[in-house]
Amino acid sequence: MIFSAPSGAGKSTVVNHLLKLYPQFEFSISATSREPRGEEKDGVEYYFITADKFRELIAQDAFVEYEEVYENRFYGTLKSEVGRIWAKGKVILFDVDVKGGYNLKKYFGDKALSVLIVPPSMEVLEQRLRGRGTDSEEAITERLAKAASELEFALGKFDIELENDVLEDTFRKAEAITDNFISL
Ligand code: ADP
Ligand code: 5GP
Repeated sequence: MIFSAPSGAGKSTVVNHLLKLYPQFEFSISATSREPRGEEKDGVEYYFITADKFRELIAQDAFVEYEEVYENRFYGTLKSEVGRIWAKGKVILFDVDVKGGYNLKKYFGDKALSVLIVPPSMEVLEQRLRGRGTDSEEAITERLAKAASELEFALGKFDIELENDVLEDTFRKAEAITDNFISL
């Protein structure tokens, strides 16, 4: 199951909620060359590697998909990560940017359900990014500038669009979508 959105729209919030509720799920830990934020730990939220190491892995064709989301800041899904989770017989939960989500859906086809989380408005997205308190002013400006073009790219390209307005409503809708998908 693939969750995508511009950053700040609520992917992590929704994905963490589903991970608590559904033991069938395991979170796909992406590799990234960005620095850990706050309490993030290597091998938990991400595999933190250098940009050089990332390029080396690209050359080895080690990724299902990857993006240079911002300059020199790579994010990608390792083939070994997919194998690790499938070996346990679990359903993979992806939290990736919109291009990554689109590419993962193309790669997995009918095996996957892609969900686009849509913020109620750009103003609300900005408030949430500020409220999260994890990004510098510069990073917030960068993320907001990207958000509009990401939404434009993504609308109409995912199996389901889920508006994240009132959080409890979003959770209930995400659970209904999940129940439907995992019972297939
Ligand atoms: P993403 O993973 O897409 O970058 P997050 O899940 O980190 O986004 O959410 C960004 C911020 O917005 C967090 O502080 C989160 O607690 C808050 N948030 C998420 N969904 C809602 C919502 N429906 N209403 C209010 N705040 C929300
Ligand atoms: P953050 O720095 O906030 O953790 O993530 C920045 C963006 O990169 C988010 O939109 C996040 O979903 C995305 N991202 C995380 N992992 C991957 C991945 O494996 N592939 C792609 N394409 N994007 C990812």
